[in-house]
Amino acid sequence: MMDMNNCQANKSIHCSVEQCRYHCGTDNYCSLNAIQVGTHEKDPTVCQCVDCQSFEKK
Ligand code: SF4
Repeated sequence: MMDMNNCQANKSIHCSVEQCRYHCGTDNYCSLNAIQVGTHEKDPTVCQCVDCQSFEKK
């Protein structure tokens, strides 16, 4: 079965955020060649402090 949106999974970027427009359908991968990761905290201490800043809502 073909992925929607001509999706090309980047097997180096695992992602389960199905609400993102770059998420690859049934595969839990990102379709971008690269992503930007950053933080919304002044002093990040756990992984919940960091974000995929390439996220865009579907
Ligand atoms: S841009 Fe970020 S949130 Fe969106 S699919 Fe890629 S890794 Fe996931």
